[in-house]
Amino acid sequence: METLESLRTLYRQPFLALLTQARGVHLAHHPMDEIQRCELVNIKGGGCREDCRYCAQSARYATGLSVHKLLEPAALRQAVEDARAHGATRLCLGAAWRGLKESDAQLEAVCRLVEAIREEGLEICVTLGLLEPGAARRLREAGVMIYNHNLNTGPKFYERVATTHTFADRIATLRAAQEAGLRLCSGGILGLGESVEDRLEMLLTLCQLDPAPESVPLNLLVPIPGTPLAPQAPVDPFDLVRLISVTRILLPYSRIRLAAGRRSLSREAQALCFLAGANSLFIGEQLLTTPNQSFDLDQSLFSALGIEEPSSAARGQF
Ligand code: SF4
Repeated sequence: METLESLRTLYRQPFLALLTQARGVHLAHHPMDEIQRCELVNIKGGGCREDCRYCAQSARYATGLSVHKLLEPAALRQAVEDARAHGATRLCLGAAWRGLKESDAQLEAVCRLVEAIREEGLEICVTLGLLEPGAARRLREAGVMIYNHNLNTGPKFYERVATTHTFADRIATLRAAQEAGLRLCSGGILGLGESVEDRLEMLLTLCQLDPAPESVPLNLLVPIPGTPLAPQAPVDPFDLVRLISVTRILLPYSRIRLAAGRRSLSREAQALCFLAGANSLFIGEQLLTTPNQSFDLDQSLFSALGIEEPSSAARGQF
């Protein structure tokens, strides 16, 4: 059983010792050079009433982001084609609002979107905020396979990140998703002003979920002008690599995803992240609200590192 003290001990090892340990765990559980590619699409942007202090989509901050209504099923066709062209095996649909209850009209609209693409051969993940059990069951029935809901940070720091919902609300959503038979994707954001201790507490919470999340996205804050966290200092890439290493050791079977903020990392820093155990990323030029590393740069990075497209047999494997 992991404890905060055991995580601290792991994290504080000399950097190369930690990296070597993580690499050993990674090679025992995953192919050496396989990186999962996921395509992200914003199906309903901006205008959210929540107050997450990092988020361009909160209506409380003047970020200049344009608001768009929920996409119609036909508009998802392009996203499916982009995902295929980029070699993605998973399509992640994200909507900006507090969450979904079974009685919400938006739930049926999202289900129609999912039903329109469920036979396309892509894993379907959705990120729709706080979820009640009935809504989770309806999404599973419509064809959703994975639910993303990030813890973002540790429980003690959470109220410094958002006040319109709690850390406990987020855990309840993860449980509702699991009980409905959805696989979990849950991780965090580095650079919100949190301490290393907060990051480790977040990881400890993730490991205590049963089963643990199948994917763990680790984002770097992309400071958005107009949001309260815009002035935050960037994260040292070595701190990110340390956290990826600890995550890999704690969650040997999970995919660890480089998510927002990847384009702020050098090619060499990204290679170190892969060495530490990151084996998933978002591909394509755009994330929910921020630009991603370009597809051409990704192709050049994969070619430099000898990373192949995942084989069809490996697609969707946990
Ligand atoms: S992170 Fe999600 S819930 Fe929070 S403000 Fe942004 S869109 Fe709303």
